[in-house]
Amino acid sequence: MFDLNKITRNNIKNLVPYSSARDEFKGNEGIFLDANENSFGSVIEGNFNRYPDPLQKAVKTKLAEIKKTFADNIFLGNGSDEAIDILFRAFCEPGIDNVIVLPPTYGMYEVSANINNIEIQKVNLTQDFQPNLDKIISTINANTKLIFICSPNNPTANLIDVKSIEHILRNFSGIVVVDEAYIDFTDDKSIIEKLDFYPNLVILQTFSKAWGLAGLRIGMAFASKEIIRIFNKIKPPYNVNILSQELALKALGQHEKFQSVTRQIVTEREKLKEVLKEISFINEIYPSDANFILVKTSDAQKIYDYLVSKKIIVRNRSKITLCDGCLRITVGTENENKQLTGELKLFEKTLNEQV
Ligand SMILES: *Cc1c(COP(=O)(O)O)cnc(C)c1O
Repeated sequence: MFDLNKITRNNIKNLVPYSSARDEFKGNEGIFLDANENSFGSVIEGNFNRYPDPLQKAVKTKLAEIKKTFADNIFLGNGSDEAIDILFRAFCEPGIDNVIVLPPTYGMYEVSANINNIEIQKVNLTQDFQPNLDKIISTINANTKLIFICSPNNPTANLIDVKSIEHILRNFSGIVVVDEAYIDFTDDKSIIEKLDFYPNLVILQTFSKAWGLAGLRIGMAFASKEIIRIFNKIKPPYNVNILSQELALKALGQHEKFQSVTRQIVTEREKLKEVLKEISFINEIYPSDANFILVKTSDAQKIYDYLVSKKIIVRNRSKITLCDGCLRITVGTENENKQLTGELKLFEKTLNEQV
């Protein structure tokens, strides 16, 4: 049913990618006079005078081991944003094709669609933030190329039922993008283990959340070797810089630290949830499998403004589909969470005094 050749844009199929100097000669040793680099070194301390590895082989080799996949099934980009943009440029014909998103969800899919002049079709999640399968399937038309599913979903924090994801994978001849930016904060398994069963599956993950490396800008995509080959054809040749590659590799070597910090964040999340339950103007605390919590409040704007006045910034999501009155709170350190809940309790007291 899924035919990669059929859904790839003709200009991409015919594209002759830029061949960098480092693509042509693979060795590490020699006198490199092929890329117009500065053989004298960098102006500052450190060795940044050479272009980085275009395919980030060292990082991918280590990552493949951790994710139980192969380097050829991995794309690394300048944040997940780059992978999202490449999906549009590879598979969606501007002004003709469309994609499906499931609000409330991550805003970048729609922004990237708009930049690429691709129509967005919205099929809202149900009240319990799960996909409306019948509606999604009936919304698919001949020009639908991508369906974005975020699990755990931002901003609702819940996992999407994997049976639903697989139903969509089986009933759609385009690409299903499963964004797992927050997968490390849940006990559920990544859908990476099903990559071999679904040639139309693209999984996004990131170094920005559980790995604590948002500033390095490294996103990952996992897919069939054929899809990854298309990604690599489109990406700028040197899209992940040397420092980011080196530090990502270093981070991957500290898997135990990664796991212990991730566990700590989950512990803090559960503690924070308990304290938030005591606050009267928080009407609902949604289940979270992520490093943030969505809460429904009686007056999101007022609470948001109060917190800002105390230099505590949360995300006001109250204007978003199905998120009336909602604030999204990132789990902080124990101390940060204490300050947050302390201020919320003070605010509660002033409300009570006004009554
Ligand atoms: C934070 C986040 C990302 C990560 O984006 P990067 O560009 O890799 O920093 C991706 N998807 C979702 C849903 C997110 O919330």
